[in-house]
Amino acid sequence: MLTIRDLTKTYANGVRALDGICLDIPRGMFGLLGPNGAGKSSLMRTLATLQEADGGSAVLETDGRRIDVLREKDAVRRLLGYLPQDFGVYPKVSALDLLDHFAVLKGLGERKQRREVVEGLLHQVNLWNVRKQKLGGFSGGMRQRFGIAQALLGDPRLVIVDEPTAGLDPEERNRFLNLLAEIGENVAVILSTHIVEDVTDLCPTMAIVDKGKVLLSGEPNAAIAAL
Ligand code: ADP
Ligand code: ADP
Repeated sequence: MLTIRDLTKTYANGVRALDGICLDIPRGMFGLLGPNGAGKSSLMRTLATLQEADGGSAVLETDGRRIDVLREKDAVRRLLGYLPQDFGVYPKVSALDLLDHFAVLKGLGERKQRREVVEGLLHQVNLWNVRKQKLGGFSGGMRQRFGIAQALLGDPRLVIVDEPTAGLDPEERNRFLNLLAEIGENVAVILSTHIVEDVTDLCPTMAIVDKGKVLLSGEPNAAIAAL
């Protein structure tokens, strides 16, 4: 579904965050495992069209179309949901209001149409009962589930989640991963993480990255055993 070739990125400070990344990412849940500083966020931001690569290519194939991710930004943004690592929420706004606000930004129609989508998503991520509460009072896990609802606005074909379980307690982590697994049944999901179990528990295919390079990719247990 997503073919990445020779992707490179060197920051102004000289750090080579992406050093010739090649990946073939199929539909379903794909795990991107690597230590802090490996280049995961740089790759995610590049795929989300929030930052330019220096070179290489990324092609997204969906619904019979081939989209050049590095050039067709508008097309990519229509097809992609993104939960960044540093996803912030306005603390004084309710979940319902902020999600509706994001829906407006995504151009999801008039109030009535939006309401159906927004309410459906709040149910899906299990925040329906707290939809009128301010986000400032949400736990880390609730915020991340809100982040998933935001990422699912507009029916994306590919959802990218960057280090979503960092800082969650075990119960919230399980809850969040179960939600991701449900979503992964219908939509391609790239899960970036430094936690081995996030990948082995959830992802049929994965890649290990370090220092801007792909060390290996494949089925998790085989890949980890080969390390
Ligand atoms: P990860 O998500 O795997 O932790 P990152 O992509 O955040 O990795 O970082 C990869 C490398 O690039 C690290 O050495 C990091 O310090 C550096 N880096 C990330 N973002 C920037 C930036 N905006 N400017 C300079 N260096 C950066
Ligand atoms: P911090 O993120 O350190 O709390 P900021 O000044 O970046 O401080 O943000 C102030 C408040 O606004 C924070 O509560 C933050 O979560 C929220 N916020 C910042 N950026 C966004 C954003 N893009 N979307 C939603 N809320 C945001």
